[in-house]
Amino acid sequence: MDNLFADLDTSTDHIISFPDTLFSRNNVCEIHLSDFSFQNKDHPVFLIKDLFEEAVSNEFYDYHIIATDASKSRSFTSIAGISNLQSFVYRIHPINSIFTAEALAICQALDELSVTDKNLLLLTDSYSVLQALKCLTIKSPKVIHRLAGKIFVRKNFNQKICLVWTPGHSLIHWNEKADLLAKTVTESHPFIEWIASEDIISHFQTISLQKTNHSFQNSKYQESIGDIPTMLTLTPWLKNRREDIIIARLLTRMIITPALLHRFGLHNNPRCQICNRDNNIEHIILFCSKYSNHRSILCAKLNFDLQLCPSLKAFFQNAVSDKRHLRILLQSLKSFDIY
Ligand SMILES: [Zn+2]
Repeated sequence: MDNLFADLDTSTDHIISFPDTLFSRNNVCEIHLSDFSFQNKDHPVFLIKDLFEEAVSNEFYDYHIIATDASKSRSFTSIAGISNLQSFVYRIHPINSIFTAEALAICQALDELSVTDKNLLLLTDSYSVLQALKCLTIKSPKVIHRLAGKIFVRKNFNQKICLVWTPGHSLIHWNEKADLLAKTVTESHPFIEWIASEDIISHFQTISLQKTNHSFQNSKYQESIGDIPTMLTLTPWLKNRREDIIIARLLTRMIITPALLHRFGLHNNPRCQICNRDNNIEHIILFCSKYSNHRSILCAKLNFDLQLCPSLKAFFQNAVSDKRHLRILLQSLKSFDIY
């Protein structure tokens, strides 16, 4: 790296960086994910509970303790926080993920349950939120930035802020109380309208995928093409954009063949010169005598009985059923003068 920067006639000090108002420089807060012996899910629960109480009385005896939790059920997404003085329960927008909810619970606890001039110990069973906070970058989820901002502001009122991960379902009474509280949520609890942009995006991605599938199932193509996996499922098995395009065209019967070219006025003969049949993808893959040797080899490798099931729909369903089959298909396309 040093050489690279020397070559560029600059140094790492000159890279425009993330604003260091947040966590980077001064110790804004402590985050403990695995520093304590109770932070080990392999321990039996009674031991976790005892080790936790020991750690609190040794390390955090003068801290104001706050526990938070979030819950998601069919009816409600909720957040809760509790200290030995107060507590809160709110409903939040159901589009929010449990990750967002856990982070929002801590944000809300900082606002509502903090005590001025006392050190704060915040307990959460969300490992992922604390980890995200610890690794804060410009690309972190917005809710993590929000949490970091809240902590930064609170820092002016409290001496020390400590965030500690507590293993869930381990009989730590603070966790149990927060968990119970979050689950007691009803229609009558106040609603907080906050919503995370990341959760909106993933929500619409799901919806759009469902819509696409739905409109395909109701289309005239469904019958001839059959149930094909989405390209999203196949993409991890494909090596490059070119393979992606080839497979998408094969599955939608839009691969370039003389018959297809003829349909668009780009080829003068739609028929196979050997068999005198429509020279479309079905003919080439399933019937054309020119490829009979390649076809037998391919079908043997795919364990596909063409005599039993002479349909392109069935053939492709077999060929895209797993990665090995898909790779075999792609490798053999050259022998069929496709690809
Ligand atoms: Zn032919």
